[in-house]
Amino acid sequence: MTSESFSPEKACAIKLDSVDTLKKFRQRFFIPEKTIYLNGNSLGLMSRNSEASIQRVMEEWKSMGIKGWLDAKQPWFYFAETLGQMAAELVGAESNEVVATGSTTVNLHALVSTFFKSHSDQNQILADELNFPSDIYALKGQLKLKGLDPSRHLILVKSPDGKNLREADIISQMTDRIGLILLSSVLFRSGQLLDMPLLTHEAHKRGIPIGFDCSHSVGAIPHYFDRWDIDFAVWCSYKYMNGGPGSPAFLYVNQRHFQEEPLLAGWFGSAKEKQFDFSLDFLSSSSASGWQISSPVILGAAAIKGALDIMSEAGILNIRHKSLRLTEYLIYLVDYILKDSPYSFKVGTPRNPRFRGGHIALEREHQAVGIYKALKSRNIIVDFRPPMTLRIAPVALYNTFQEVWETVLQIKEIIDKREQESFSGIPDLIS
Ligand SMILES: *Cc1c(COP(=O)(O)O)cnc(C)c1O
Repeated sequence: MTSESFSPEKACAIKLDSVDTLKKFRQRFFIPEKTIYLNGNSLGLMSRNSEASIQRVMEEWKSMGIKGWLDAKQPWFYFAETLGQMAAELVGAESNEVVATGSTTVNLHALVSTFFKSHSDQNQILADELNFPSDIYALKGQLKLKGLDPSRHLILVKSPDGKNLREADIISQMTDRIGLILLSSVLFRSGQLLDMPLLTHEAHKRGIPIGFDCSHSVGAIPHYFDRWDIDFAVWCSYKYMNGGPGSPAFLYVNQRHFQEEPLLAGWFGSAKEKQFDFSLDFLSSSSASGWQISSPVILGAAAIKGALDIMSEAGILNIRHKSLRLTEYLIYLVDYILKDSPYSFKVGTPRNPRFRGGHIALEREHQAVGIYKALKSRNIIVDFRPPMTLRIAPVALYNTFQEVWETVLQIKEIIDKREQESFSGIPDLIS
């Protein structure tokens, strides 16, 4: 079915679900009771595989104690690298170019401390004004650590409309003063997917290293880091990867940089065979693993293991295919049912599927918070980003086309009954 053959009746949603080749995976997840959960871009749901994997680690801890580091089914000492190897398939990397460790922001600090050399004539970092604030805090901190002033040395590409970026604007600011570029793969508000291969090509033409924060894309879309030749990447595991709240994040380092020095060094980055020599001279493992700092969080790693098993069984290309069908269908329904007054919703996400991540930003100038809260009171979980954006993420592994249909119809009903007027004020802290 192409978007021309969508229709607004429920029968269409039922038909789409019936031909969905990934539908069996929904049963592998714990869906909160009587809930339509469309928030997997903020926190992916727990799977039975993750539960079983966590339970196994708990049993191993009980029965083995310290022996679990080497004797567990998934030896804890190598768990970070094992997960890196599994995730490498998702991002188009060699198995030793990816490792599960730390958190996104810490990994960003670790990699920027290596990749931003700040030569006297190349001492600016290029990023964009729509990036996730934590990344910007990290970049500012890194500049200050080098004695540089963020107000002069952090160059933020401006968005023409406050929602999306133009690649041409980014490229035009890749001047010979720039020593490092950091961008998001998918913008967290609008859901725009940047053209990573093009931006990497342009950066390298100018000799500038470039890294991406892929927190909003890994697990939703395929990546080809090696083919694109990007220098480094970071991403979290708890959004589309379903790795669990606060579980370890990931980092990627292109193998041509394995000899670079990890400056936020820690003992878990050591060459494995030397780690327990306790030498005071750090010997990096000379792979992505070298940028680890500390002991891996094994219970979180276990959760990720279960989630990655499902993902590799489903196949990232199939996941992307279904995700695009879901978001295409959502856009269709919003245009058909919610565009005109009094509904007045606009789609803030690029309509070209090449430039769309896994979620859709729906914008409404008035009372968007009230609608978000009314949805929540009806057990439909989306999220709200001020001042006027509802983010809706129909996730390929566990959402259905009928849930998308139901959500749009409920938004219509909320507005028909003016329910949003009884919900006002500030949104909840975390949504
Ligand atoms: C979710 C997200 C993070 C999360 O950072 P943590 O340090 O892992 O909490 C960072 N950057 C971006 C772009 C994100 O979307």
